[in-house]
Amino acid sequence: MALIVHKYGGTSMGSAERIKNVAARVAKWHRAGHQIVVVPSAMAGETNRLIGLARAICERPDERELDAIAATGEQVSSGLLAIALRHLGVDARSYAGWQVPITTDSAYTKARIQNIDGKRVLNELGRGAVVIITGFQGVDDAGNITTLGRGGSDTSAVAIAAALGAKECLIYTDVDGVYTTDPRIVPEAKRLHVVSFEEMLEMASLGSKVLQLRSVEFAGKYRVPTRVLSSLTDPFMPLDIEMKSGTLITFEEDEKMEQAVVSGIAFNRDEAKITVLGVPDKPGIAFQILGPVAGANIDVDMIIQNQSVNGTTDFSFTVHRNEFAKTIEVLEHEVKKRIGAREIFGDTKVAKVSAVGIGMRSHVGIAALMFRTLAEEGINIQMISTSEIKISVIIDDKYMELAVRALHRAFDLDATNGRNGPHPENPAVAHAPPN
Ligand code: ASP
Ligand code: MG
Repeated sequence: MALIVHKYGGTSMGSAERIKNVAARVAKWHRAGHQIVVVPSAMAGETNRLIGLARAICERPDERELDAIAATGEQVSSGLLAIALRHLGVDARSYAGWQVPITTDSAYTKARIQNIDGKRVLNELGRGAVVIITGFQGVDDAGNITTLGRGGSDTSAVAIAAALGAKECLIYTDVDGVYTTDPRIVPEAKRLHVVSFEEMLEMASLGSKVLQLRSVEFAGKYRVPTRVLSSLTDPFMPLDIEMKSGTLITFEEDEKMEQAVVSGIAFNRDEAKITVLGVPDKPGIAFQILGPVAGANIDVDMIIQNQSVNGTTDFSFTVHRNEFAKTIEVLEHEVKKRIGAREIFGDTKVAKVSAVGIGMRSHVGIAALMFRTLAEEGINIQMISTSEIKISVIIDDKYMELAVRALHRAFDLDATNGRNGPHPENPAVAHAPPN
């Protein structure tokens, strides 16, 4: 018997029929003797609908009220799941964040969890009940309802698993795991059985949308064994098979995991590039450009400064696309004249493509292979950044898919290796196509 947290995403909770399927799956785990806490998302599309209602009244609704509204989506799906479980004869109770309570700071729409009081939940579990806790929401010290940012129920689930000391946190979603890349772009993409925590952290921050970044950070901080798996499989499938399906995020890296040099290709179109042209090349210039940008609370990702010619140089960096206009404004008003730059130039038609893998630590020549592959496709690299386990490039966004396909092939991810393809212990669950 173990305490296990299940999280179900919006698609998994998307209709009465799907909620009944979730209930059947949860009942199966419960009847096998496990203590189960379930964290559901709002039904698919519901959070957008709720936010849309508020925006139809005014463009920038008060954020306290917006959170109070957005949080109701999870309350509805939690209550519906409790009803479905009770209908199957399983004792189940739903709790909103404030009833647990899950306390957060007061940063509406992007609050951070500060504490989870497990007493009430553990009591209920001790009585033999299934406990359902709303994802995505909490309560601040003053009793206001807060939400954790879009996709935040992943974080709720992992944080609850950490607070309760759960044996595993199972994230049930509409794909059956973490893939070597998006199968919609590369049909040969393969599901990974295991991914190291560090790789998952890179993939989440580089634009893989499987898990909210903060949930991965939580999993790492509290070492919560977390598994991503499909909710759209047969809910009655045998438990021992289900337990090994999907992708496990692990904290133990073995040699086999390093055999594949690269474990995944991530990509996104979330960034925009800004270039400050004709900057005098002298000490302090990077600070004079990026200081005001940081002062405006804008995150900078990649940075590059060219070789200077006749004492001037060009300085480029990327920011999130949502902050592109704001960044240009800061540069035009606070920076351009002061440093004597010739021109500020922006480009939103860029994409970031990254290769990620812990095998990079023990292999050389990875960057060279990546650059050669892009060169052979005639794709120009505009910016490069690296860490110990990833290489990212900024390219023209019209070549993004081509780059992803070429790199997937070049790093042999189309082929089966120890971490993808049929599961060594469990061939029956291999290669379920992503939904
Ligand atoms: N319902 C929230 C959203 O759509 C939270 C979540 O689904 O994780 O962002
Ligand atoms: Mg999600």
